[in-house]
Amino acid sequence: MFRPRNLQLDSESEHTMEEDSLSVDVNTEGLRFRKIDLEIGKEGITNYSTGVSLALNPAEIETGQVIGHGSSGVVFAARHIPSDTLIALKSINIYERDRRKQLENDLKALDDFSCPYLVSYYGAFFSEGVVKVCMELMEVGSTRRIVNALAGRPEPVLPEEILYCIAKPILLGLNYLHREKHMVHRDIKPENLLINSKGQVKLSDFGICRELANSAALCNSFVGTFTYMSPERIFRSSYAYPGDIWSFGLVLMELLKGEYPYSKASTFLEMVETLQREPPPFLPSNGLYSPELVDFLSRCLQAVPEQRASCEELLNHPWMQRYKGVHIDFLGWLKGVLL
Ligand code: ATP
Ligand code: MG
Repeated sequence: MFRPRNLQLDSESEHTMEEDSLSVDVNTEGLRFRKIDLEIGKEGITNYSTGVSLALNPAEIETGQVIGHGSSGVVFAARHIPSDTLIALKSINIYERDRRKQLENDLKALDDFSCPYLVSYYGAFFSEGVVKVCMELMEVGSTRRIVNALAGRPEPVLPEEILYCIAKPILLGLNYLHREKHMVHRDIKPENLLINSKGQVKLSDFGICRELANSAALCNSFVGTFTYMSPERIFRSSYAYPGDIWSFGLVLMELLKGEYPYSKASTFLEMVETLQREPPPFLPSNGLYSPELVDFLSRCLQAVPEQRASCEELLNHPWMQRYKGVHIDFLGWLKGVLL
């Protein structure tokens, strides 16, 4: 819907924000990420390394209601007037360092991600110190809504076949990131698993970007988001694909139990202590859950990253195979729960 056209942007910068992993020139016209050679101006994005530009005329976007709040800013429902397409518009305050990092990663998603299990990014533009990122509107919102709506229900809060309807597309999206893009998501959590009005589940926010310099920075910058992090990431050892599998396992666990498995750890230090002291969360073999699901989750929630299953292994796991060819009315279930 947004056709590329070449942009002429003012390249003279007013000031530069130098950072260890990222340098950004910012002026009143926009900002330029020097390392990835990409510029966001008032009329869109130009990627100088690929030669691709995505033009977006802000005047052609009508902003509607607020649909969500994140740490980087507000998400609005909006309409791209010429194509009469509803979109989501995420505003990111670029004067915060971590937000620029997140933005850099969001922008990578504009490159050539074509996967039906990832939320599509259409473009971005700069407006009064804020970058607005346009993306596919996921009308139902995030799986956090499901967790909230089912709070207080007895275990299992969610039928296994409904869990499957969420787990499968997320694994397919993750598999695409891992295998095709050689990329770690790094921020799998209920808020980043979005659902549209057709009942399709997709992954958004392709990560908090990169490793942080030290664990103090980790404590300070990501209070609230460390919760889904894997032990090896928390303990600062190498962090790769299995970290996403751990987070994925925790999200499934939360959906089933109606409670985040480490809800008692309210600070980063408590989380570290709990991970050191306790075995990973697991489902009880008490008949509430199928043995296949108990095994499936234990393949995700292994303390040692190398022992965790890959996306491919999980997609071929007997629990997944059980539902092959089975019709499940996920949308009907969703309406019943959320309306
Ligand atoms: P954090 O800022 O810590 O990453 P977050 O993922 O919740 O948390 P955002 O990505 O800014 O922050 O999103 C805020 C909320 O807006 C989400 O929780 C989700 O409910 C909603 N949201 C985000 N993107 C979309 C979208 N494309 N369509 C519909 N709703 C969305
Ligand atoms: Mg998000």
